[in-house]
Amino acid sequence: MVTFLSGGTGTPKLLDGALSVFSPAETTVVGNTGDDVELGGLLVCPDIDTVLFQQGGVLNRETWWGIADDTAETHDELQRLAESAGLADGPRYLPDERQTAGRKIARWRRFSGVAEFMHLGDRDRAVHVTRTGLLDEGYTLTETTRILADAFDSPVDIVPMSDDPVASIVRTPEREMHFQEFWVAHGGDPDIVDVEFRGGDDAEPSSAALSALTDDPVVIGPSNPVTSIGPMLALDGVRTALESATVVAVSPFVEDRVFSGPAGKLMAAVGYDPSTAGVAEAYPFADAFVLDDDDDTDLDRPVVRTDTKMNDTDDSERVAHAVSQALEVA
Ligand code: GDP
Repeated sequence: MVTFLSGGTGTPKLLDGALSVFSPAETTVVGNTGDDVELGGLLVCPDIDTVLFQQGGVLNRETWWGIADDTAETHDELQRLAESAGLADGPRYLPDERQTAGRKIARWRRFSGVAEFMHLGDRDRAVHVTRTGLLDEGYTLTETTRILADAFDSPVDIVPMSDDPVASIVRTPEREMHFQEFWVAHGGDPDIVDVEFRGGDDAEPSSAALSALTDDPVVIGPSNPVTSIGPMLALDGVRTALESATVVAVSPFVEDRVFSGPAGKLMAAVGYDPSTAGVAEAYPFADAFVLDDDDDTDLDRPVVRTDTKMNDTDDSERVAHAVSQALEVA
């Protein structure tokens, strides 16, 4: 049995090849939900959706979000309606008092559907309608995720980190904004002075995530330590479980060079060196690391080196083999 912690790019890439190294039936993927938003009344779980679509064989691999060859007629019409009404200046947050009203799971990240600042394809949208409908019928996020995973014939168990709301909020010099506003609407441009995982103090890990972390060795694929793994670490129960578990982490850096995305900027904002050394500092519970061949960082824990760039399944398999070796020396 093995448990992967996943954001929306690095661990899904690793999973492409990992399932020929680890048995899918014995694999659990715990998805970050700090990135989730409620958009036009629909709960969108970007990281979990990437894993769902990847496991279902329908992921758009150019973007690492959305379904390949999906249409976007509803999204396009939403844009047209907003533009003709002069309302396309989003993201459009719901008013403050509405941020804590309604579905509890969507707290602190509720946007109106006007102009829809995230691109939702038509088939993609059907997933969010189904998820939100199930939540409104009283299912937990864990149950809705498993129902969707079955609908996509996922060979692995996919579970959310929590059934409670946790919202990743970044603070810029001017104001705070949800991570998705920072990343999707502003392309990661604004300066960041701090990051908050709102709700993290009160949220519990989902019982499925907690038992997967307690019973099995844990793999943290190459991930943004702040906004993909940080929300999980904001849950006391996850931190405690990771301290006892055997944990291997793959660096998302080669020394101080990041493969993609805003990990460096976010790490610097919360006081970590934006590098493999900073990742090791952010993961004091990790027992071993997988680093790139070109990464000479000297760590105080065992290291397995390989070429960690993953462009295809062969690359992912190579990294997964290194993970398996790291689990042996951890
Ligand atoms: P997000 O949810 O889309 O922000 O992405 P994740 O947290 O899942 O992953 C982002 C991290 O994956 C970035 O910091 C990248 O540096 C890293 N990454 C992306 N592609 C690769 C790759 O091929 N190899 C390695 N080692 N890291 C990668």
